[in-house]
Amino acid sequence: MTKEKLLSDTETLRRFIQLHCDKKHHDVPKKRGTLEVTFKEEALAELPYNVCEECETLMLYAYGKLKNCPHENKPSCRKCPNSCYEKPMWKKMANVMMFSGMQLGLTKIRKLFSK
Ligand SMILES: [Zn+2]
Repeated sequence: MTKEKLLSDTETLRRFIQLHCDKKHHDVPKKRGTLEVTFKEEALAELPYNVCEECETLMLYAYGKLKNCPHENKPSCRKCPNSCYEKPMWKKMANVMMFSGMQLGLTKIRKLFSK
């Protein structure tokens, strides 16, 4: 894992989980928090979030996995030969990624046609 990769992957993670929570859990109480991204004791960024408890747990879990990824050149988790996620968390994460990926895709397509 490299510093740059950890930072960009964590930003993507936060963005996807935030979007998913905004759209899917709007009737669930949210809590504000900050995800502190650190790499080998060096503070890289503080990413604010405002999500429900379930999503916060998922985000912190996924961040922990990213941070401890043993691969020098981290493959995409989907293609990883020894995925470190536990099954239920993996399912949740796959859900979030698919949902938010589609949302972001749609926004892009809408922009293309909005001129
Ligand atoms: Zn949520």
